[in-house]
Amino acid sequence: MFTNIKHILDDAAQNYYGVIAGNAINMETAKGLITAAHEENAPLILIIGQGQMTRHANAELMVPMIKTLASKTPAPIALCLDHGTEFERIAHAFRHGFSSIMIDASAQTMEENIVRTKRVVELCHPQGVPVEGELGHVGMAAQGDGQDESLYTKPEDAVRFVRETGVDCLAIACGTAHGKYPEGYVPKINFDLIRAVKEATGGMPLALHGSSGSGDENIRLAVKAGINKINVATEILTACWNRLNELRSWETMTTMDPFVQMEDAAKEMARHWIRLAGSSGKADHFKPDYTFGDPVAKTYNLQGE
Ligand SMILES: [Zn+2]
Repeated sequence: MFTNIKHILDDAAQNYYGVIAGNAINMETAKGLITAAHEENAPLILIIGQGQMTRHANAELMVPMIKTLASKTPAPIALCLDHGTEFERIAHAFRHGFSSIMIDASAQTMEENIVRTKRVVELCHPQGVPVEGELGHVGMAAQGDGQDESLYTKPEDAVRFVRETGVDCLAIACGTAHGKYPEGYVPKINFDLIRAVKEATGGMPLALHGSSGSGDENIRLAVKAGINKINVATEILTACWNRLNELRSWETMTTMDPFVQMEDAAKEMARHWIRLAGSSGKADHFKPDYTFGDPVAKTYNLQGE
């Protein structure tokens, strides 16, 4: 079922597990990921980046397809705009039915980040659409940003940011970075920092970006420390590419085979991540309900309040 991301993340935060936010950029990846959630009986978040929508994964095509796929499974499925940086693009995703929005103004100053994030919350909350903000800056692996501790989230800043913006989920910088890490490099994640931000924000859902290539043990420990949303793009898309590269006997295949194989590769990788995050079987926590509560009403007790 297509559902509100806040239902998914609040349950994950209350029960100490992680939910995969997997990158879906076409029918093959969307179908593979949702099939993985169905087979693992797990909640799932699909993410599409702002730039990906402009280049290829148009919202007009992707959102109705994802909603149709989600309607076929009892597993709760949410859809989140990933790294919305421009208000016009965010409004576009909002209008086309994304069930949550991530606004990324983390490259700006703290003051400007608060102003921009708050503006998106004011757009989305009255319509029941939850918002994720990013504080600290999760940069690019290729530039070594994950090792730059000056970019990490500070717990006291997190309290102010959440209080002043009203976000429902917070993406933090704690040692990971986007894209591919250099060969053989395993990021050093600051688990104490995750715990400190979690405590300071009253246990609110926290997101880890740049999870691909971080290593299974790091992800398990990050979830234990308080991460609830685990963004995975590179490993899913790379799995699709690797599978295509493995298909040697093109002359013996039907023309459909590469697409079926791509879907299968996305599914297998997603199942691995779902198990790693600890969300297998957790779809049992979610039942369609006939209530009319406010999906963005739950708040967290910030430190000092
Ligand atoms: Zn990200």
